[in-house]
Amino acid sequence: MASANEQLNNFMEGLEKRNPGEPEFHQAVMEVAATIIPFLDNNPKYREMQILERMAEPDRVVSFRVCWQDDEGNIRVNRGHRVQMNNAIGPYKGGLRFHPSVNTSVLKFLAFEQTFKNSLTGLPMGAGKGGANFNPKGKSTNEIMRFCQSFMTELYRHIGADIDVPAGDIGVGGREIGYMFGQYKRITNSFEGVLTGKGLEFGGSLVRTEATGYGAVYFLQNMLKAAGKDVEGMSAAVSGSGNVATHAAEKLLQLGAKPMTMSDSGGFIHDPEGFTQEKIDWIKDLKNNRRGRISEYADHFTGATFHEGKRPWSVDCDIAMPCATQNEITEEDAKMLISNGVKAVSEGANMPTVNEGVEAFQDAKVIFGPAKAANAGGVAVSGLEMSQNSARISWGVDQLQEQLRQIMEDIHGRCEKYGKDYGRDDQIDYVAGANIAGFAKVADGMMAFGVV
Ligand code: GLU
Repeated sequence: MASANEQLNNFMEGLEKRNPGEPEFHQAVMEVAATIIPFLDNNPKYREMQILERMAEPDRVVSFRVCWQDDEGNIRVNRGHRVQMNNAIGPYKGGLRFHPSVNTSVLKFLAFEQTFKNSLTGLPMGAGKGGANFNPKGKSTNEIMRFCQSFMTELYRHIGADIDVPAGDIGVGGREIGYMFGQYKRITNSFEGVLTGKGLEFGGSLVRTEATGYGAVYFLQNMLKAAGKDVEGMSAAVSGSGNVATHAAEKLLQLGAKPMTMSDSGGFIHDPEGFTQEKIDWIKDLKNNRRGRISEYADHFTGATFHEGKRPWSVDCDIAMPCATQNEITEEDAKMLISNGVKAVSEGANMPTVNEGVEAFQDAKVIFGPAKAANAGGVAVSGLEMSQNSARISWGVDQLQEQLRQIMEDIHGRCEKYGKDYGRDDQIDYVAGANIAGFAKVADGMMAFGVV
């Protein structure tokens, strides 16, 4: 049999040929394939059935025109998409991203990652991702509403509570979900759990807003515990300032750690004293209601500094939590964090570390929690929202918080199971563990269906 490296090269050569000009998709598949191929050597039934090849080919990709009118009366044209990646273990499930960088490559990488992430949660969810190259920055509320309505006027025919259940992602929060749910309901005349992240008045779940950030810290806590360490007293660099970042910082603070940084596309702020709950609430209000820039923090709170055009990875810290976007930790950033003594990384964003950076962390024995596992708390509570919608009930905050904590512990256990046997010798390889555990469940589903 060809060596693992030869197999990987052959596999990637074919994938790149079939999907030209899609670097983010290649990157995401490469990271997974590198860890799955050794597993296939020990489990040849999956190779015979071409399961990995099938998983890297979306069930379907739809793209559509989204026309809307801005406040000046100009007609604007954007492109919307939905990648329905894999529904072997449940309806397609995954967020919608509104950002100028959205294209087929980005959405295919996200949908591919979602397959493994959703499987890892232990809940019955397949994988999808969608969005548009629409830039919400600087748009009025009415423009956002008109865009969301137009987007849903096309998307509605492809989704449904048992078919495909989108949610939020970058640029899509509670406000946008509300507009899209309203339009779906208006077109179909059906009140169903077709989107998650909804408002609490119309079928949303408690704890969904906090889930991704809190979950990423719970996962960090589990990893540290397995290594005989504790998050209390540790300093943390967090990037981003949206839903994931603010709730990651909040949970770090609650557990006695010291979150010191946040960022947006303009740069990062560093508060050496660490954020208090009051400061985090101020950032939440800045971003959710006033829709301002993170630089304003440094004008408001003395002692804090703003670093224009930079990311926070030069700051001395014990913990790094990238919670902004893909490829925000380069190889150089990873090396800088390592030389500054970082002990653990937990990824709140999707694929925030380049593959060379992940290797650098693992080579340096930095505890590394990949996004598929670490940020799965968000989609996990989305899964709980789906269950509540189907049963037409609402669970209480204590029950949901406990379920989230338990799900993150279970995900850690699943990663540990495979991460001890595959990957590097003297450490739990959470990258291999998450990929293989996520793969195995979906693969067994696909095997049962035969050649489809
Ligand atoms: N966009 C989030 C993610 O990357 C959440 C998806 C969802 O809740 O469906 O997992």
